[in-house]
Amino acid sequence: WPATIPGAAAAAAERWPDRVGLIVGERQWTFAQLWADARAAASAILASGVGHGDRVAIWAPNTREWILAALATHVAGATVVPLNTRFKGAEAGDILRRAKVRMLFAPGDFLGQDFADLIAGEDLPDLAETIRIDSGWDAFVARGKGSDDPAVDAAMARLTGDDLSDVIFTSGTTGRPKGALTAHRQAIQIFGDWSVRVDLREGDRYLIVNPFFHTFGYKAGWVPCLLRGATIVPMAMFDVGEMVRLIETAKISFIPGPPTIYQSLLQELAGDRPRDFCSLRVAVTGAAPVPPVLVERMRGELGMSNVVNGYGMTECGAIAMTRQGDDADTIAHTCGYPLPGIEVRCVDGAGRDLPPGEAGEILVRGHAVMRGYLDDPAATAEAIDAEGWLHTGDIGTIDARGYLAITDRKKDMFISGGFNVYPAEVEKLLNAHPAVAQAAVVGVADERMGEVGRAYVIARSGAALTADDLASWAKANMANYKVPRSFVLVPDLPRNAAGKVLKTDLRA
Ligand code: ATP
Ligand code: MG
Repeated sequence: WPATIPGAAAAAAERWPDRVGLIVGERQWTFAQLWADARAAASAILASGVGHGDRVAIWAPNTREWILAALATHVAGATVVPLNTRFKGAEAGDILRRAKVRMLFAPGDFLGQDFADLIAGEDLPDLAETIRIDSGWDAFVARGKGSDDPAVDAAMARLTGDDLSDVIFTSGTTGRPKGALTAHRQAIQIFGDWSVRVDLREGDRYLIVNPFFHTFGYKAGWVPCLLRGATIVPMAMFDVGEMVRLIETAKISFIPGPPTIYQSLLQELAGDRPRDFCSLRVAVTGAAPVPPVLVERMRGELGMSNVVNGYGMTECGAIAMTRQGDDADTIAHTCGYPLPGIEVRCVDGAGRDLPPGEAGEILVRGHAVMRGYLDDPAATAEAIDAEGWLHTGDIGTIDARGYLAITDRKKDMFISGGFNVYPAEVEKLLNAHPAVAQAAVVGVADERMGEVGRAYVIARSGAALTADDLASWAKANMANYKVPRSFVLVPDLPRNAAGKVLKTDLRA
């Protein structure tokens, strides 16, 4: 692999100059054009005085300009700080301040009054400039000397795989988002290997619905396309109709995403209009449980011959993936085996390795583990031990084949009368109740049992559901120690910007 992310863009332009690298709406760009446009943007960013060690934030939907701004930042030796598009001004401001961001790219509609107030209040002393990534893009690029600028070549010659490529903030599911620092070489190696495991091929058309501000849409999204000669087809906003249109017109072959996406496609297929989905080949799922029947239907009805499940986190990019040919149960119930060079262990509270099938905290070691958390040596030391093992905070099992399954988060597990209770497992069971739309379980203090479960449940619309119904149903459908002691029906649950339920808030 090339050593850096812009190195990958340059290599793609050399190897596949005329192949379509990017499709947005009706427009398309070859790999040669994409790299030329990135070089022109790099010339502009160098002309703006951005250099090694600076931080540049990108706060925008999945667009061509996001990719160009990131590559330009990288060429300058500066670090990209992606911001969540769901953030409001104050949340974006918090990250911009903590990461001492010097330049920000964002579309005009993100820069509303709340953001203007932050700037006016001098809350962001390091932020020298905000570039409107939509209306102001051409004017920004015009600052530079164009794609032939020798300064770009000089900057590329200085850039190494050990330069930091980005500070990506975690989703904030278990607390305040933490900024994970990683270098170019790390992203290229792990997601290059990822692209081999998931069988991303030259000529594939990759529909990127996962946001670019998250590792999945960025380093497992457009970066592997550059490495493998696959076409990047970003979606700025998720919409089933638009997804169907893109599959049919852009001949999409590769779609990652949560299981609900494939459910929607199956529904489309069952509708009145005939659909041409014959280009589909690969699906990459993760994070939410995928029922085995869905895997079978994706293969049989959507024609996705390769369905892959995987495990990853911001602090380590990708960790494990299943492989082509694994059976539907393996894909549904595990997230595969480690990528090359990545070691995984499952340990008990005393740090001892557990036998196959027993649940404990997952530890990960290898080239992809982040350099550390931004400006937080204490949190870094807590996450990565002296032997280099990253303590993921996830609970899981490893089977005799070496396949990993995630059971829960360490912070969510509680002990009831001596039994370990994994809320994610109980939630999965409760979600099978026909009148339950979503359940979230937390442990609450109990004098006799230590802790007992409490379930917060959203009922399906129109369903008549009571706490008593749920209690008796739970008793009939799960082991006694897993049955929540109390049930609370709620209209909604506290969630973070990524849509994950905030257990900390729920417990409070
Ligand atoms: P924070 O660290 O701020 O609390 P977060 O952990 O949700 O937020 P991310 O790095 O975006 O932030 O998410 C990684 C986490 O997602 C993993 O640690 C794991 O808990 C969960 N996850 C990833 N893949 C899977 C999977 N295949 N099955 C179940 N959970 C998964
Ligand atoms: Mg995390």
